[in-house]
Amino acid sequence: MKGTPKRLHNSASVAPDKCVFCRIVRGELPAEKVYEDDRYIAFLDINPFSRGHTLVSPKAHGETIWDMDEHDIGELFMTASEVSKAVVEATGADGFRFVQNNGEAANQVVAHVHVHVIPIAMHEKGKVMDRLKLTPEQLAETAKKIRESLARN
Ligand code: 5GP
Ligand code: ZN
Repeated sequence: MKGTPKRLHNSASVAPDKCVFCRIVRGELPAEKVYEDDRYIAFLDINPFSRGHTLVSPKAHGETIWDMDEHDIGELFMTASEVSKAVVEATGADGFRFVQNNGEAANQVVAHVHVHVIPIAMHEKGKVMDRLKLTPEQLAETAKKIRESLARN
């Protein structure tokens, strides 16, 4: 289904040179990267809802899913699906959520397309999740486990 390209309001819109995720892609900002190929990147959320909360993004700047063609949307979610297996294995979670926010009204804070992969343990079932305060060392340890799981599979 192809429609006219549409824009969603987002006061967080920025040009790629100022975009936080583009800057991570370019290596200008640090991130706990767990996966990277020529078109996609996955790294830990700096302010996670659970241990292992990962963001999967196309490297090319686009604001919302509507800025991507159908093929690339498919690839993004296939990449997120592969990453989710490693995230779940590395964290010992029992399930995971994909969250993908588009536009300010949907709480999109970083205006560069991304899929959240949020692992969830059974004991967290049904609970409202709060952002965790994790140390850089804890993030690094989790990222290492996810990278190791991706390398094994
Ligand atoms: P959104 O609300 O746009 O779907 O989610 C953006 C996510 O990006 C948030 O969960 C936030 O914690 C995360 N985030 C924002 N800035 C940075 C950053 O500089 N590095 C990393 N790793 N994550 C970030
Ligand atoms: Zn960007």
